[in-house]
Amino acid sequence: MNTIHKLTEYFSKLPGIGPRQSKRFVYFLLSRDNVFLEELSKLIISLKKDVSICRSCFRYFPSNHNTSTKICDVCSNKNRDNSVLMIVEKDSDFENVEKTNTYNGFYFILGGTLPILERDPNKKIRIIELMKKVESNRKENKLAEIIIATGLSTEGENTKDYLVSKLKPISEKNKIKLSLLGRGLSTGTELEYIDTETIKNALQNRH
Ligand SMILES: [Zn+2]
Repeated sequence: MNTIHKLTEYFSKLPGIGPRQSKRFVYFLLSRDNVFLEELSKLIISLKKDVSICRSCFRYFPSNHNTSTKICDVCSNKNRDNSVLMIVEKDSDFENVEKTNTYNGFYFILGGTLPILERDPNKKIRIIELMKKVESNRKENKLAEIIIATGLSTEGENTKDYLVSKLKPISEKNKIKLSLLGRGLSTGTELEYIDTETIKNALQNRH
């Protein structure tokens, strides 16, 4: 197999990219100069080294080489409201909610969604880590509300139902409010594609 084919295969593994698009990427790269290609390769190689995963919310953040901190800037921000925790599917959803400037609590990144009838949820989402975090925040007596902010795709809805079933006992027992984003978001949409105003409304109308 030649390099064009090999690279096409790699690009087609990217989310949302089909074989036709991935071939277009390859020909685009061929049309660029060496500086562009070298810079791109360097960035790909250093990605894992320069980015860490937060031990508290599990989001990716730029690591600081001078310190050994494993907690991101949001989780370590003392000005944020530690009584509210929002659960989102992925990093891009977190970024989209942050952009609205209306939410000042903390986050938890699930790392995916749950397919219908999934037998082993642990393999698809960070449910064990989430339950641990909720439990430890509860023990410190600082958790008043958990917002489930999964998308409105079929898997997103399924994930929401699963999270409600897992979190309901702990929420009822400890008087922690369990809320969902307000309607107005259209079915099938992922949080990362929703515009700022709609997210603001969905947050204000959470129930
Ligand atoms: Zn964090």
